[in-house]
Amino acid sequence: MIVRQFTCRAIINPHLHAHLRKPWGCRDMARPSSDLAAFREIFSRAKKIAIITGAGVSAESGVPTFRGAGGYWRKWQAQELAAPEAFSRNPSRVWEFYHYRREVMLTKIPNPAHLAIAECEDRLSKQGRQVTVITQNIDELHRRAGSKNILEIHGSLFRTRCMSCGHEAANYNSPICAALEGKGAPDPDTHDAQIPVQQLPRCEQTSCHGLLRPAVVWFGETLDSDILTNAEKVLDSCDLCLVVGTSSVVYPAAMFAPQVAARGVPVAEFNMEDTPATMRFKFHFHGPCGTTLPAALARHDTEQNIE
Ligand SMILES: [Zn+2]
Repeated sequence: MIVRQFTCRAIINPHLHAHLRKPWGCRDMARPSSDLAAFREIFSRAKKIAIITGAGVSAESGVPTFRGAGGYWRKWQAQELAAPEAFSRNPSRVWEFYHYRREVMLTKIPNPAHLAIAECEDRLSKQGRQVTVITQNIDELHRRAGSKNILEIHGSLFRTRCMSCGHEAANYNSPICAALEGKGAPDPDTHDAQIPVQQLPRCEQTSCHGLLRPAVVWFGETLDSDILTNAEKVLDSCDLCLVVGTSSVVYPAAMFAPQVAARGVPVAEFNMEDTPATMRFKFHFHGPCGTTLPAALARHDTEQNIE
């Protein structure tokens, strides 16, 4: 139940991070294995597979994150706009930012990593086996690739929540409202559109008309407790865990992988970063996950052909 205490901001707090690493980080100094055949052997027997995905999977589809060096929208990085304070101060600017990100997604497609995960879920479900994706990504590329069992712990760019009545809804309109059409340009010299709040996306529930916000988890906000409860159930019952496009020591996997590893369940990382030698995970596959994952999740010789 440990994850309930975390807010989005707290998870990236280095002190908490260190605390999380302590109980399980130092047990085994061996480097994780990169033996694909050994992974495939375990994969072939796994009945419940949890796949934790992070920004690296989206990055391979060219989705901008607006974080890190060069990651700016106008003069700001995501953490300056993806915050409740920013939205109450300047809802027009924050909506321009999200409108831009929604529109960008119309030009992006799932990459081989998304597709391999979706294909694996579909194939294994016919064998009575389960694959669940737990993702921090808000771009819905897993959904578009065909994954069905998805826990979006940070919400979605394509959902809205009413600030007045709390109603949440899927929203794929492009543009999301007339006033945002053609707005949201990312260049640093673009002026704010300063759209009047009445012309920003509004709730369509009967007689509400409240201001809508993106249904994503902003910095400083608590993760949805229902989604976390479901994630915990998946992690408590999985017999194989994959960490894809993020390191096991970096949020969100850092929040989840320890409880899986503590049960003695194999954890396999697929990412571009080396894992510190002290990390106690069974496998690490280095490289773009669009390259490593399809081979790892392909049909195993022992799988029955059920169509
Ligand atoms: Zn409403």
